[in-house]
Amino acid sequence: MSQSFPDVTDAGLAGLVTSAEHVALTESRAAHNYHPLPVVLSEGRGAWVTDVEGHRYLDCLAGYSALNFGHANPRLVERAVEQIQRLSLTSRAFYNDQLGPFAEALGRLTGKDMVLPMNSGAEAVETAIKVSRKWGYDVKGVHPDRAEIITMRGNFHGRTTTIVGFSDDDEASGGFAPFTPGFPRVAYGDAAAVADAIGEDTVAVLFEPIQGEGGVVVPPDGFLTDLRRICSERNVLMVADEIQSGLARTGETFACDHESVVPDVYVLGKALGGGLYPVSAVAADLDVLGVITPGTHGSTFGGNPLAAAIGHEVVAMLEEGTFQERSREIGLRLARGLRALEGEGLLAVRVRGAWAGIDIDPQLMTGRTMCERLVAHGVLAKDTHGSTVRFAPPLVATDADVDHLVDAVGAVLRAA
Ligand SMILES: *Cc1c(COP(=O)(O)O)cnc(C)c1O
Repeated sequence: MSQSFPDVTDAGLAGLVTSAEHVALTESRAAHNYHPLPVVLSEGRGAWVTDVEGHRYLDCLAGYSALNFGHANPRLVERAVEQIQRLSLTSRAFYNDQLGPFAEALGRLTGKDMVLPMNSGAEAVETAIKVSRKWGYDVKGVHPDRAEIITMRGNFHGRTTTIVGFSDDDEASGGFAPFTPGFPRVAYGDAAAVADAIGEDTVAVLFEPIQGEGGVVVPPDGFLTDLRRICSERNVLMVADEIQSGLARTGETFACDHESVVPDVYVLGKALGGGLYPVSAVAADLDVLGVITPGTHGSTFGGNPLAAAIGHEVVAMLEEGTFQERSREIGLRLARGLRALEGEGLLAVRVRGAWAGIDIDPQLMTGRTMCERLVAHGVLAKDTHGSTVRFAPPLVATDADVDHLVDAVGAVLRAA
């Protein structure tokens, strides 16, 4: 494709180290906990990134949806720079003038009374687990030390020892035992199985409304509604991990909105930091988050003024609704383009807003091979499990960008 590598930037020309040298240096000095595509990025604007050699790529991973608003979003960068020069960190030993307004705004967006701010997604999931257990003991009255949280097969909730303990991905959990007990697992999307698994010590059901790392797996229609009903009837907290699915990715503010379902607890992260900074949070009503008292939970960086300022600006942008709308438009165009490739090597196409998972005919190539070949067509994407690739372009992507992605996928399939 002639338009793949259109220009060489000054930064690329001025670079003292080649891409191969960066790869070698990184592999020799940074632990091998990832298997990156061999591109070395040095700049990003909107939906596009540039590597050290000046090649440009449409970023169709968008930091696993942390970059919903695009690279270097001007409004977010301006707010962050202003705040970092004024006050960046206080610790929660003191109040700061950013956390209150951020918590109020995020409470409004989620419809919840309060929020508990953390940094990474995994920390927010851990927070939701602690809150659920303490709610179980203090409010529901389950047997001491026996609280259970029902989880789903194929889940991805992060990388701490407790969280990987209830993953069914052997790569994620292998070698890290012993694990925290109390997390039975049921089939994803099976509300009856959830109902069957609830016992007298069940305090919560932890689930992703769409399984992102699982390959953009959308549960059957009605699953969220059924889950809501079951959790209410059985006095169990419905805990939605919307770290990747939330904040406009699926065309709604939250993926639970597709069934007009409101969980008891939202777990948020990724895009909440605008791609600039790690910002995560748990949002719930006072009867749930009220179980947390001074000394029971904390984080040195959680709720710092810089994080709160960025998170607040993200919420303000989401309240306008334009990103949700653009996500729906991108989704329609993406679905139309990718579905036209079904029968040309794609076995399945799943699209929810600007989020797509494709299953490639494994006879043709693995997901990894598809991603390696997309690089040559100016597209960065990430495979997951065998022959699945997911696409999540920033929500500032243009129609031409979406067509660029679809054309690249078509070209790779046709050349196979
Ligand atoms: C990414 C992700 C997490 C973990 O977030 P980190 O910031 O990487 O710790 C948890 N849950 C879901 C659904 C995610 O996609």
